[in-house]
Amino acid sequence: MSIADNIKRLQDRIADACARASRDPAAITLVAVSKQRTVADIVSAVDAGIQHIGENRVEECSAKYAPVEAALPGQLTWHMVGHVQSRKAKQVIQLFDIVQSLDSLRLARRYSRLAGENARPLKVLLEINISGEASKHGFAGYNWYQEPAVKERLWRELGELLELPHLDIRGLMTMAPFQAEECVIRRVFADLANLRAELQSSLGISLPELSMGMTDDFELAIAEGATMIRVGRAIFGGRN
Ligand SMILES: *Cc1c(COP(=O)(O)O)cnc(C)c1O
Repeated sequence: MSIADNIKRLQDRIADACARASRDPAAITLVAVSKQRTVADIVSAVDAGIQHIGENRVEECSAKYAPVEAALPGQLTWHMVGHVQSRKAKQVIQLFDIVQSLDSLRLARRYSRLAGENARPLKVLLEINISGEASKHGFAGYNWYQEPAVKERLWRELGELLELPHLDIRGLMTMAPFQAEECVIRRVFADLANLRAELQSSLGISLPELSMGMTDDFELAIAEGATMIRVGRAIFGGRN
């Protein structure tokens, strides 16, 4: 199957999942995660209709960025989806339009300062570790609705983030637990959706984006309200 065929099939599956959930497919942004893929793969995906590209490593993206932008000037929105080390924050600001994986206050302060120097606010999503796995990054959100300490801490952290002048906080992002049962994955997505709803109503803010769902679980994420899905293998095939 070609990348174009894969995208067509994926779009059909997204449309079916939206129909089952009574949602409009236009409300779902498909981010093609092109880690470990070539410039030619990215160009093929864009030719088949992809407008959003996700990468998880700064070095890898910086090698591909110039040739992709030369082939497709200004057509793409670049999403950082991986954990970033502080010393690479400056490069991230230069390459990416949105950081989906903002996972600490320390990094947030640095991004805000750098974005201020550029006079361009940085769009971010807050990565929330809902599953509680130690291997995952993100603000601690496991059992946030049952654990007052977790909830208080999240609200305090968001309060500090909202004070940063050059960040545009667009919403929340999470990763499903690895190899979990469907009901467990669904619960994680529902918990993130509920967290967004409660933050919006209690703080009077707007968090339009909910980024959740990958190749193995995007249909569940759409059922639970995802507005962005991040898909790699279903578009580009398996990785090593
Ligand atoms: C790799 C990756 C994806 C895409 O995963 P697939 O299983 O290939 O669809 C999505 N989000 C993040 C953060 C990733 O690192």
